[in-house]
Amino acid sequence: MPSKKYKLILITTLVLSASFFSCTTTKTADTTRITPQKKITPTIINHGNRDEKNISLTFDADMTASMQKKLFNKQIKSLYDKKITDTLEQTGTPATIFITGLWAQTYPEETKSISQNPLYEIANHSLTHSGFTKNCYGLTIVTDKNKELIETQKILNNLTGITPKYFRFPGGCYEQKDLEIVNNAELQAIGWDAISGDAFQPNSQKIINNVLNRTTNGSIIVMHLNGAHNAPATSKALPTIIKKLKEKGYTFVKLSELLKDQDSNAIFDFQKK
Ligand SMILES: [Zn+2]
Repeated sequence: MPSKKYKLILITTLVLSASFFSCTTTKTADTTRITPQKKITPTIINHGNRDEKNISLTFDADMTASMQKKLFNKQIKSLYDKKITDTLEQTGTPATIFITGLWAQTYPEETKSISQNPLYEIANHSLTHSGFTKNCYGLTIVTDKNKELIETQKILNNLTGITPKYFRFPGGCYEQKDLEIVNNAELQAIGWDAISGDAFQPNSQKIINNVLNRTTNGSIIVMHLNGAHNAPATSKALPTIIKKLKEKGYTFVKLSELLKDQDSNAIFDFQKK
């Protein structure tokens, strides 16, 4: 039987060892925390902060190979409705424009002009607007997902000097593993929570109602920049949408402002510092 003295020494030793190890563990944890995080969980962001009345208008500038062909053959007059940007400019409304590589190549001057206007922020909407999954609103299935992202980054950067940080899947179609492809290209995938339903919709009142009913704090509203055949009533609906949402107390901001606290590019920026 150990004496009381031995028991005391034994307990003291155990307590000291325990506190030594806990200090060591804490130090290790601290060191881990300051090491830049390499693996970022790929996500798609569909809205901003629900506690603030900031919202974002986003416009997709779609262009598939077949749309481009129809434009060149003069079967379609235009795939850019300038009345949309005119309204945004007249009302001083910021917006984020998701541009496909084919649209940028077809409208290089317009792409430059949009990128230079401080009201706008440009983003990546793939190269050929092909579906990342089967059965995506009849879109042709994509052949090279990486190329769709990287090539468009190059086209937009060459034209504007800007490297976009947001990407939107054509038709919003994707599989979980596609988010990793987006993430690996140093892009953040962006969806929406307020769909305007403006694609092929000739009735502007329907678009207005959809947006007003679906918009809430932090909303990302999705519309199209194409006009004519693809989004014939968007420009007619837009002035009312802007007016009514302002009356409801919302403030329009660009996506980077809406998402300043939550997008993973903020982490990329942090890593680069
Ligand atoms: Zn699109």
